[in-house]
Amino acid sequence: MMHSGRVAVVGGSVAGCAAALAAHRGGADEITVYERAAGRLADRGVGLAVHNSRYAELESAGYLDADMQWVQLVRRHWYVRDDAAADPRGHTVAVTPFPFRTYNWGPLWGELRRRVPETVTFRTATAVTGVRACPGGAVVETDDGTERFDVVVGADGYRSVVREAAFPGVRAEYAGYLAWRGAYPEERLPEPELWGVEDCVYAVFDGGHVILYRIPDGRGGRRVNWVLYTAPPRGLDADLGFGHPRSLPPGGLTDALRAHLSYVADVLLPPYWGAVVRATAPAELFLQPMYDYTAPRSTEGRVLLAGDAATVARPHTGAGAVKALQDATVLESAIITAVTWPDALESYDADRTVAGRTMVELGRRLGRAFVQETPDWRSLGQAGLEAWWQRADGTGAFGGRELRPR
Ligand SMILES: Cc1cc2nc3c(=O)[nH]c(=O)nc-3n(C[C@H](O)[C@H](O)[C@H](O)COP(=O)(O)OP(=O)(O)OC[C@H]3O[C@@H](n4cnc5c(N)ncnc54)[C@H](O)[C@@H]3O)c2cc1C
Repeated sequence: MMHSGRVAVVGGSVAGCAAALAAHRGGADEITVYERAAGRLADRGVGLAVHNSRYAELESAGYLDADMQWVQLVRRHWYVRDDAAADPRGHTVAVTPFPFRTYNWGPLWGELRRRVPETVTFRTATAVTGVRACPGGAVVETDDGTERFDVVVGADGYRSVVREAAFPGVRAEYAGYLAWRGAYPEERLPEPELWGVEDCVYAVFDGGHVILYRIPDGRGGRRVNWVLYTAPPRGLDADLGFGHPRSLPPGGLTDALRAHLSYVADVLLPPYWGAVVRATAPAELFLQPMYDYTAPRSTEGRVLLAGDAATVARPHTGAGAVKALQDATVLESAIITAVTWPDALESYDADRTVAGRTMVELGRRLGRAFVQETPDWRSLGQAGLEAWWQRADGTGAFGGRELRPR
């Protein structure tokens, strides 16, 4: 175990807080987090889901715990619109198990941030402008000057400056469709008796689907959370310049995009799920274009990539935050078991590069199955849907790959 070393972490979001914790537990004696944002990170108030088995692993590794509020989901209810159906929720295609916990990103990040030890220097409002290699280490550049570290962790998200320094020119690819997202207080949910708290709903249609589940609100109550995947009308995404990664913040949707969402809610979704989406206020709506990529490797020299800086898999995989936390657990054990930093980096790379590729490939497969080449949902039925899902999930990595036993 290396009880020494200076580690820089670029980015103080989920991956960054977890990596700082990992470096601390691994025994690094000086850790600095550089976070571009000033103060607390702005909460979008929307959710993420963690598979029960991945939760159990991350809890025993000490990165998640029961003090972090969650909502337990049990089953996934698949609905499709059927105008002849008396039920406003539509026709049930199938019901399948869904052992996931859901979280609200903001409170979850707050809990992780609280667990970063006080010995870690957390520099907010400090953007890293570049990283370069130096003998036996790497140099972090900011507007305030430069500083040398033994290892630099790039946890600076999908537009990572650190990744660009390590692997110039690696770009995320636009997948050709969008995620419309929204969340609001549960009190506003129409006819709540129609939707059980333990039910995750997939309301599917030709060319897309919406996923709906509840999340904690961080104050003991719950919020309704949904994400709807489908391509916008031809060309609308090109107008928005999605050739380059960017998303539209809450309240930032154009009239044309909002009109398309209303069309999907009113015409393609079963009436009840359309109404649940419609209950979202414009200021609670935001949009993320779907991208995917994975860096060629997870380390380069003394630079290591974690979270979205290393890999962005489409969210159909249900594993974005899980992967960021798993990266940290693997980093911690790599530091603990290695004798030198290069050994630790090599061991991290061997595990996380494969994990990243698996998730990106799964995201592409699920994107095809769920959005780009949707089946005739009405004809599937329980057995047909289960067989379709088996083909789409393939390796069983939905919700995140199992952590290798250490
Ligand atoms: C404010 C915010 C809200 C989010 N809300 C949700 C949500 O509700 N649901 C959900 O599923 N996912 C959400 N995400 C995304 C989610 O956190 C990530 O997809 C996933 O957890 C991996 O996290 P990450 O830490 O790798 O990347 P990110 O969460 O994207 O974090 C990257 C961090 O690096 C910082 N950074 C970037 N460039 C620099 C630089 N040059 N110098 C210093 N710092 C830099 C950013 O400010 C950011 O804090 C959110 C992300 C952010 C930043």
